[in-house]
Amino acid sequence: MEPTKTDIVVLGGGPGGYAAAFYAADLGKRVILVEKDPRLGGVCLNRGCIPSKALLYAAHTMSAARESAHRGITFTEPAIDTTKLRAWKESILTRLSGGIAQLAKMRGVQVIQGRGYFEESRMLRAETPQGQQLLTYDQAIIAVGSKSAMPKAFDLGNPRIVTSREALEVEDVPESLLVIGGGYIGMELGTVYATLGSKVVLVEALDTILAGADPDLARPIAAYAKKAFKETRLKTKVAKMATSGRQIKVEFDLDGQKKEELYDRVLVAVGRAPNAENLGLENTRVSFDDRGFIHVNQKQQTTDPAIYAIGDIVGGVLLAHKAAKEARIAVEVIVGEDSAFVNVTIPAVVFTDPEVAWCGLTEAEARAKGIEVKVAKFPWAASGRALSFDRPDGLTKLIIEPDTERVLGVGIVGVGAGELISEGVLAVEMGATAKDLSLAVHPHPTLSETLMEAAEAFYGHATHTLVRKK
Ligand code: NAD
Repeated sequence: MEPTKTDIVVLGGGPGGYAAAFYAADLGKRVILVEKDPRLGGVCLNRGCIPSKALLYAAHTMSAARESAHRGITFTEPAIDTTKLRAWKESILTRLSGGIAQLAKMRGVQVIQGRGYFEESRMLRAETPQGQQLLTYDQAIIAVGSKSAMPKAFDLGNPRIVTSREALEVEDVPESLLVIGGGYIGMELGTVYATLGSKVVLVEALDTILAGADPDLARPIAAYAKKAFKETRLKTKVAKMATSGRQIKVEFDLDGQKKEELYDRVLVAVGRAPNAENLGLENTRVSFDDRGFIHVNQKQQTTDPAIYAIGDIVGGVLLAHKAAKEARIAVEVIVGEDSAFVNVTIPAVVFTDPEVAWCGLTEAEARAKGIEVKVAKFPWAASGRALSFDRPDGLTKLIIEPDTERVLGVGIVGVGAGELISEGVLAVEMGATAKDLSLAVHPHPTLSETLMEAAEAFYGHATHTLVRKK
């Protein structure tokens, strides 16, 4: 079989892989993108970010209707047609993945549907539905992503024990749902199912949900969970699970005490594992750690000079926008630019109700590392815009370097925090000072004013709060 020769092969068509392929093509490279699924977009588009946001939107409309009675507007309890809900969600995914396929075509990126396996450093075998295809290239970019971690003890082969992948299909709404893990996925999908009507019990091994967020930012989410979930149990581990008829018998380890309960469904959301198996990396010089995350330097170069890697497969924060940034860096390095993943601010957003978002340095991190910072806060209870849609449960905070007054980090909890955090990212990336944020006129009435007012609070004169002079 004669190999096909190209400049760059990208392995994996998720938000890292397709971003790399498109950028390389835009810069004049011949690119082949190898993706095993029939649809481009990876986990994020097909089984992660996008479907979960669609379901959360549907859930929020239900919550908004339910919470409107005290405003004098009463709706009847919504009827849920999961078939229609799934179809609507699916239509979004079809449209988006179709758009990506179209963009690939228009750029001249050749997409091969197949599983990629490295035969050697400069040769990939793609196993396609039509047979095998050999590809040779100058550089390969590995962007194969990650999958939900499923600890052996939970893996009973029982379809009632699911990961986010199955939970996002919303086959039905179980009466009782146990969510294991109070991180991004546990909190987001717990929110979806609780709103749809499941009695949700969430267990988290640590003493807090959303461990990465500052405690004051996580508090409104914990308050939401208290109201919407049947129970949230911290410092709790699942010791064992077993099939019990149409249910799952779960044994908990609750501060040393054993407890047993039955659930209709269990969602395991305890983190993600790299898709490191069967890539043929042993035929290359690529090295990886004992969990399977590929080693890369700041230029996204692996230990094999012909191979780059980006996204979840290289570890760090497992977020689509981190992958997309690394894609740009890898391509720029390949075309000879002096690019590197240095001082890059990667924001985090958890799409709970309310949302929580942060970027740069967090207050907890500053404390743990002994970095002296000042923290300026603006509570949303003082925001006219937040009150106008009945959501005063928010907080905007700035983490500020005392000497230079530079904004080192921003944290926001509240409705729409995920959209608001980008101003924080820009501030941190541009080296903005609290003065810059306070001097920039923000439109009234908007939630973005909370960033300006937090900066004003730093100087002791926010219009809508009283900052007591020390
Ligand atoms: P996570 O790391 O966010 O949270 C997992 C949680 O499970 C942790 O709090 C951990 O302490 C807990 N845990 C681990 N083992 C446990 C056990 N045996 N019993 C009880 N609790 C246990 O992982 P996730 O929620 O599975 O999400 C995976 C990744 O997907 C995240 O790292 C995130 O980057 C990404 N993601 C991002 C978004 C977003 O950007 N909004 C949404 C979903 C997922």
